[in-house]
Amino acid sequence: MRHKSGTRSSDRSSRKRANASRPILTHFLGDSEVKASKHSIARDWGEPLWPARALLIRTEPVPRTTDVIVVGAGLTGVSAAFHLARAGLRVIVFEAANIGDGASGRTGGIVLEGTAIGIRAGVDNCVPTLAHLVRELEIDCDLQLPGCWEIEHKSGSGCGALPWRDDGITIRIARTVAGGSVEPRALLFGLAEAAQRYGAKIKPQCPVRRVRIAGPAVEVDEGVVESSKIVVAVNAWTSALLAGLPKVHSALTYACSTEALPDRVLRELGMAERIPFYTADRPYLWGRISARGEIVFGAGLKHGAPAELERTSIATEDSRAILQALVRRVRELNPVLNNILIRPQWAGPIAFTDEALPLLGVYPPNPAILVAGAYAGHGVALSVRAGELMARAILYNEPLPDWASLVR
Ligand SMILES: Cc1cc2nc3c(=O)[nH]c(=O)nc-3n(C[C@H](O)[C@H](O)[C@H](O)COP(=O)(O)OP(=O)(O)OC[C@H]3O[C@@H](n4cnc5c(N)ncnc54)[C@H](O)[C@@H]3O)c2cc1C
Repeated sequence: MRHKSGTRSSDRSSRKRANASRPILTHFLGDSEVKASKHSIARDWGEPLWPARALLIRTEPVPRTTDVIVVGAGLTGVSAAFHLARAGLRVIVFEAANIGDGASGRTGGIVLEGTAIGIRAGVDNCVPTLAHLVRELEIDCDLQLPGCWEIEHKSGSGCGALPWRDDGITIRIARTVAGGSVEPRALLFGLAEAAQRYGAKIKPQCPVRRVRIAGPAVEVDEGVVESSKIVVAVNAWTSALLAGLPKVHSALTYACSTEALPDRVLRELGMAERIPFYTADRPYLWGRISARGEIVFGAGLKHGAPAELERTSIATEDSRAILQALVRRVRELNPVLNNILIRPQWAGPIAFTDEALPLLGVYPPNPAILVAGAYAGHGVALSVRAGELMARAILYNEPLPDWASLVR
C-alpha cells in the first residue's frame, strides 16, 4: 500500500493499528473516528423520511489487492458486491460518504419495471427479481407490489379521475403498471449486510480519488488498490470519475412528506389502496405512501455538475424555492391537504443520459472496468438488477445488454 507522505501522524497510525479489526458503526451511531476523518463528506441535502440505519463496519486496513473493487455503496454497488461475494470473490466497496447518502437512501422508493424509457432486454424482470431477492435474504423493507399508477393531467371527470386538481387541471389514472414501493434504506442496508455476511468489505467515508485505467486500480486516501475488475456504480458522480463516457447529466431532485394520515383521509384523497403514482406528462409529480401513512411527493430539478450539487444545500435559495413550490402544489391538489402538516424535506441526486437510456457496460479503454448508472430517476429495481448483471458478467462472462453499451 502506498501512503501519501505526511498525511497521518504516527499517533494516528498507532491508534489505527490498535483499532484494526475492531468493529465500529458508521456515523449513524456516531463513531468518532469516522466523524473526525478529514476526508469526511457531509451533504446538506436534508433528512429523508426513511429512518437512519447503522451498519457494523470493521476498521481493517485497506488491502493492496483484491478481486473486485466496487466504487459507490448505493443499490447498484451493494447489489454487485453481494452477488460477487456470494460467489466467493474478494470484494471491497469504497463509498465516498456514508451508506445511503446518495440516491438510494434518498429515493422515493417506487419500484418500477424496466428503464425510464421502457422495458429492455435483460431488464424485463427487475421487479420479480427484486421480490425474490428480498424474500430469499429476508430483508424487512416493506416491499409492496400492488402496481403503480401512471397518472395524467386531463380535463373532465369520469373513468379513473382522482379527486385532485394540479395546475387547475383534473388528474386521472391513465393505467396501472407493474411495481409498487419499498422502504429504500431498509432495502439498501439489508443488501449491504448480506454482502458483508459473504465477506465483502465496505468502506464508508473513503472516496475513490481516481480510477487508474491501467491495472486497473483505484487511488484512495490510504493508497492504491489493484484488482482484476472494477465496478463503477457512482450514478450522478459518473462524469466526475471517468472520462469518455456518453454525456451524463446530474441534478438534485426534491421530496416532501405529509404527516401520517389516517385511512379516512387517504380514502378522501382517492388513495385508500396505497398505490404509488407518477405523472406520464408534465408538470411532473410522483408520490407514494409510507408504511405509517405519510404521503411522500416529489418533483423539481436543480441541474449541476456533481461538485456543484455537493455544495448545494437544502437551505439555499434555489432549493428552498423548489421545495416551497412543491409544497404549494401539493396543498392545491385537494382541500384536505391544505390543513395537514407537510414537511419540505430532502433532496437527492439523479443522473440521466441524453436519451434517458441507462449506462450498463464495459469501459472501452479497459473492459475490466464496468459501469452502471444514469437510470433517469427510475433506478430502484433497475439498480439492483444492474448490480446483478455486472456480477454475472464478471463471474460467468455473460454479455451486458447491447442497448446499454457505453459506446453510443
Ligand atoms: C429524491 C429521489 C427520488 C427518487 N425516486 C425514485 C423512485 O421512486 N423510483 C425509482 O425507480 N427511482 C427513483 N429515484 C432514482 C433511484 O433512487 C436511483 O436511480 C438509484 O437509487 C441509483 O442507485 P445507485 O446505486 O446507482 O446510485 P447512488 O445511490 O447515488 O449511489 C452512488 C454512490 O456512489 C458514491 N460515490 C460517488 N462518488 C464516489 C467516489 N469517487 N468514490 C466512492 N464513492 C462515490 C455516492 O456517495 C453514492 O453513495 C429517485 C432518486 C431521488 C434522488
